[in-house]
Amino acid sequence: MNPKLSHRVNEMSTSATLAMAAKARELKEAGKDIIGLSLGEPDFTIPDFVKEAAIQAIHDDFHSYSPVDGYGDLKQAIINKFKRDNHLNYNPAQIVVSTGAKQSLANLAQVLLNEGDEVLLPAPYWVSYADISKVAGGIPIEIPTSIETDFKITPEALEAAITPKTKMMIYSSPCNPSGSVYSEKELRALADVLIKYPDIIVISDEIYEHINFVGTHASMAAFEDMYDRTVTVNGVSKAYSMTGWRIGYIGGPEYIARACNKMQGQVTSGANCIAQRATITALENPPSKIKYMVDAFKERRKLILGLLSEIPGFKTNEPEGAFYVFPDISYYFGKTLKEKNINTAGDFALFLLEEAGVATVTGEAFGDPNCIRISYAASEKDIKDAMKRIKKVLE
Ligand code: PMP
Ligand code: GLU
Repeated sequence: MNPKLSHRVNEMSTSATLAMAAKARELKEAGKDIIGLSLGEPDFTIPDFVKEAAIQAIHDDFHSYSPVDGYGDLKQAIINKFKRDNHLNYNPAQIVVSTGAKQSLANLAQVLLNEGDEVLLPAPYWVSYADISKVAGGIPIEIPTSIETDFKITPEALEAAITPKTKMMIYSSPCNPSGSVYSEKELRALADVLIKYPDIIVISDEIYEHINFVGTHASMAAFEDMYDRTVTVNGVSKAYSMTGWRIGYIGGPEYIARACNKMQGQVTSGANCIAQRATITALENPPSKIKYMVDAFKERRKLILGLLSEIPGFKTNEPEGAFYVFPDISYYFGKTLKEKNINTAGDFALFLLEEAGVATVTGEAFGDPNCIRISYAASEKDIKDAMKRIKKVLE
């Protein structure tokens, strides 16, 4: 706390994913042998066809400010992608391109929330949803789940969490951190509750859409009765391994898109112009072009689940998408390991970092204090070595 800083930032938590990644980087630079499984960041290089489009954009002299909400032809590529992959029809005024899906989400919170508005977060949820909401005046309301129900909420739990102050719900499917995927039927059951409360806006974060091992992706906005109150968030960070290029986008009701455009126009302007040009090519190509990455993640999932099952005290579900496992490690609470007391998931993650040299993220940051998140967007060698080290320090 620094009284010279605003309450806003003093009350904000640091992003646990980025903090752990920074810590792991620091230790590595200091010569420690650290395996980083904390960050959700594909280890693949960007597909050549995307790289070439970016190089071409530089040669074509793209250099100036783009329209705040994105180039017209990129918006068209996004419209085509929504139609092709999600059966969603949008017009250009309903699309806004931003500096990562993180900015898309921050824009949405800023333009939709007033002080005291409640934001439903099926837990576990992605770390930044809570603070992005809080900084906009919202109050995060967690809807707890458990590993037994595959970390998915039920319609009954959703309805019980709704109050007259509920303004929106944010969820991701495939989910970061649990890897859970809501089927169309499960989403429909949630929609049947939501249609009774027409003022609630749904933010459907579909950034892991293509990293789905069950094969079918369902979008909330594809239900006719939810279309006018759902914003679909997506981006190229995960599927195209373009995390550092910072392109995310939304499709949603026109009044919301216009408001995001206005907000972004005062804060950052249009996203990076070269990355936008490359994104056109990324989205115009069929998802089959990136299947090799999804296949590799599927193999790694099998590998890590197998290795984790050999470690006592790790209870896992079978994630159906994204590239994380979210084991319940509460078995270790109250135990002393190498003279260190383990009382929380944070203690356990720190123990793994210090004793095994493996960086993970505490589940507390995702709204589940019994779990840790392990990213398997890493090489098979790193996954094998990390699991071997964890097993050894816990013996
Ligand atoms: N949503 C989810 C669920 C995420 O895991 C991430 C992490 N990258 C983001 C949004 C933000 O992605 P980006 O800003 O890189 O587009
Ligand atoms: N979304 C990724 C993660 O959850 C990247 C880091 C971040 O932006 O939080 O690890």
